[in-house]
Amino acid sequence: MAVYDFDLFTIGAGSGGVRASRLAAATGARVAIAEESRVGGTCVLRGCVPKKLLVLASHFAEDFADARGYGWTVGPTAVDWRALIAAKDKELDRLNAIYIRLLRDAGVALVEGRAKLVDPHTVEVAGRRYTAERILVATGGWPFLPDIPGIRHAMTSNEALDLAELPKRIAVVGGGYIAVEFAGIFAALGAEVTQIVRGDTLLRGFDQDIRITLAEEMHKKGVSLLRETLVRSIERLGDGSLSLRIGKGMETVGEDIEVDAVLYATGRLPNTRDLGLAELGVEVAANGAVMVDQWSKSSVDGIYAVGDATDRVNLTPVAIAEARCLVETLFNGRPTAMDYENIPSAVFSQPPVGTVGLTEAAARHRFGEVDVYVSRFRALRHTLSGRDERTMMKLVVNRRDQRVLGCHMVGADAPEIVQGLAVALKCGATKQQFDATVGIHPTAAEEFVTMRDKLPDA
Ligand code: NDP
Repeated sequence: MAVYDFDLFTIGAGSGGVRASRLAAATGARVAIAEESRVGGTCVLRGCVPKKLLVLASHFAEDFADARGYGWTVGPTAVDWRALIAAKDKELDRLNAIYIRLLRDAGVALVEGRAKLVDPHTVEVAGRRYTAERILVATGGWPFLPDIPGIRHAMTSNEALDLAELPKRIAVVGGGYIAVEFAGIFAALGAEVTQIVRGDTLLRGFDQDIRITLAEEMHKKGVSLLRETLVRSIERLGDGSLSLRIGKGMETVGEDIEVDAVLYATGRLPNTRDLGLAELGVEVAANGAVMVDQWSKSSVDGIYAVGDATDRVNLTPVAIAEARCLVETLFNGRPTAMDYENIPSAVFSQPPVGTVGLTEAAARHRFGEVDVYVSRFRALRHTLSGRDERTMMKLVVNRRDQRVLGCHMVGADAPEIVQGLAVALKCGATKQQFDATVGIHPTAAEEFVTMRDKLPDA
């Protein structure tokens, strides 16, 4: 039997890689993990965590304004962007240190540098070779930018989290998770935001009522949305600002908009280039995703992949769950396949979105007849704040067996509320069980258990 340096060698110390390494080490396996940047990965260092800190920071602007309706006298307010970024960076340093400590305490060897596969059991990092019985690719994703003239002037979410100054005017290109989240942050902090989407509205793939509601609410908060619009080129002007030539559809003659910064959030691609995968015969999709089976095994024995590198469902908790399943399968003798049904997710837009299960359109497509319940209301907070913000909640129910197929919400605390509903959907709850659940009053969440009137069939 071959003798290897390690039982598992993980490439990439992000959410998926760290979890798999720690859990494998806990079974007694000898584990190493390679990282070319800082330990923590996208979620901790360049995504979920810093983004949410900026969302929380930016929300104070509305909180101060709303306080007046409750009798508060609010003096002049201002945000110190540099102080905010410094505070955020300090927190990231703390998390980075925690991740390093977790790996060390678990007995995982940290190898610093960019890894490349040499053969199915050998990895090279910084000129040194390491052998392992199994290699796990957990290299995550990286922003994708379309190739248009002047694209070098654009920033991605990576740079947006570290800007030296808060731009006065910013264009955000894209209508997905990242674009709506950053459009919300910059608008709340006082920037003039123009969001440019090539489709008819935001968040393609989400329930239509979420898409419509969010676009309306973001409009009220000052985000100007340009629909069915493409940026053809970006030019740096003499005064340092940027001129974006935009066009509609196939029209070649566009107009120009002038901004101080442009953020591209046009999707992410698996970060698998130059890893040596193709050379070893590992099947890789056109976009770079490592093709894996239900056990997260690639087409080459001994090589596995989890998380965004596989482009399945690109969410941190999914990468972590895939890592857990992999360790159960490989090191605990319990073959475990990840269950991709009813994965809840949230968009930290302003107002936020929470969703679990099927959209109305997907439910109709899969199950035929469905019952739909929609509630739109002004949250109690805004009776006194006077803010014109509406909350939308929606339930999609299978008419045949009354199982709840989808829960969707746009409104304050939607991510917190939908997490609990995800448990109900995982248990196969029916509409009657929702109805039999006593609400908590007065909350917005109680609306999910008090919706009685279904929409008439279209
Ligand atoms: P998304 O795939 O969500 O959205 C990409 C957006 O860019 C879409 O609106 C798409 O339009 C548009 N687009 C793509 N190519 C072009 C182009 N060439 N020109 C103009 N527009 C283009 O990607 P994101 O970058 O927002 O996020 C990446 C992933 O990260 C998400 O899929 C998600 O899994 C994860 N994420 C999750 C978060 C969360 O859970 N809260 C937060 C942030 C990221 P169209 O719809 O027409 O294709």
